[in-house]
Amino acid sequence: MTRGDDGTSACPEPGVVRALRRALSAWYRDNARDLPWRRTRDPYAVWVSEIMLQQTRVEQGLPYFERFLRAFPTVQRLAAAHEDEVFKAWEGLGYYGRARNLHRAARMVVEQSGGCFPTTAADWRRLPGVGRYTAGAVASIAFGERVPVLDGNVKRALARLFDIAECVDTPAVEARLWDLAGALVPKRNPGDLNQALMELGATVCLPRSPRCDTCPVRGQCGALRRGVQEALPVRRRAAAVPHHDVVVAVIRRRGRYLIGRRPPEGLLGGLWEFPGGKVRAGETHAEALERELREELGVGISVGEPIAAVRHAYTHLRVTLHVYACAITDGEPVAGTHTALRWARRGDFARYAFPKANHKFLGLL
Ligand code: SF4
Repeated sequence: MTRGDDGTSACPEPGVVRALRRALSAWYRDNARDLPWRRTRDPYAVWVSEIMLQQTRVEQGLPYFERFLRAFPTVQRLAAAHEDEVFKAWEGLGYYGRARNLHRAARMVVEQSGGCFPTTAADWRRLPGVGRYTAGAVASIAFGERVPVLDGNVKRALARLFDIAECVDTPAVEARLWDLAGALVPKRNPGDLNQALMELGATVCLPRSPRCDTCPVRGQCGALRRGVQEALPVRRRAAAVPHHDVVVAVIRRRGRYLIGRRPPEGLLGGLWEFPGGKVRAGETHAEALERELREELGVGISVGEPIAAVRHAYTHLRVTLHVYACAITDGEPVAGTHTALRWARRGDFARYAFPKANHKFLGLL
């Protein structure tokens, strides 16, 4: 291994690279999990899987992937879909910005190149929602371009393999990890090596208790040699996750419920929800509901019985939804902060994509 100015590994020596490639490729051939997106080189399927599996475990994403491809089997079908259909297929998976960008990118591919996908990572990166990792994954797997990938799993495995003791969340160390990943990618079958690294991180080089006994690259692992594999990678300390109390109004009129569609940008953009909002300091739930519905819908309400209190955790935020039966006492609702309002029957809820937190009380209505 050659050493950088700071004494850390900068670029692996050719013999090390060859040994790692050989060991990883052989191991991947025999041990790769059989996943639907691995049975194809179809760029559309590979792309959808890569977007869907960001921040999502394979077991959770698998049924969504199969359902999504049944609903939208081609990029043309996805481009032609209404955004509501796309959200509905994505409902429950979270991070809805991914679905919105996938849909936008599909439209760009169809409108600008007649449905032909880019073939290089650089061109993939021009599409919305496609960063360096996704571009590298699709271009290497579907088109055989020699470009690296670096997701959380690969980062962890490389930081241990090359015994990187600095925080991996700094731009300088991240750049070094990209270089190391790039040095490992071979000319032939670059996608397989990339997937081998991802698979190693996902199934062997686990965040806690890595399975070094069964690791195909244990002989080359710097962290294992020093016995520090459990201490790596060094991560930046996560900020404390804030908690918000949110009030929610269930307003029923002649068997229908009032729901609104969230604005397209921001958290849960484009999804449908029951009206309400954050409780401010010093407010009672009833005061918060009255203020929110006046601001959001321009109506006065009376607040009735509590229906439920449900907790939900997002990545950077935890909420408790306090759900109340309410009735309009003054005015007719108009879409203010929402882009649309509907009076929906209980039986029609399945047509609307709701945030997961709303699903936790829908069954009680
Ligand atoms: Fe990870 Fe252990 Fe393999 Fe090193 S030997 S890469 S720490 S699983």
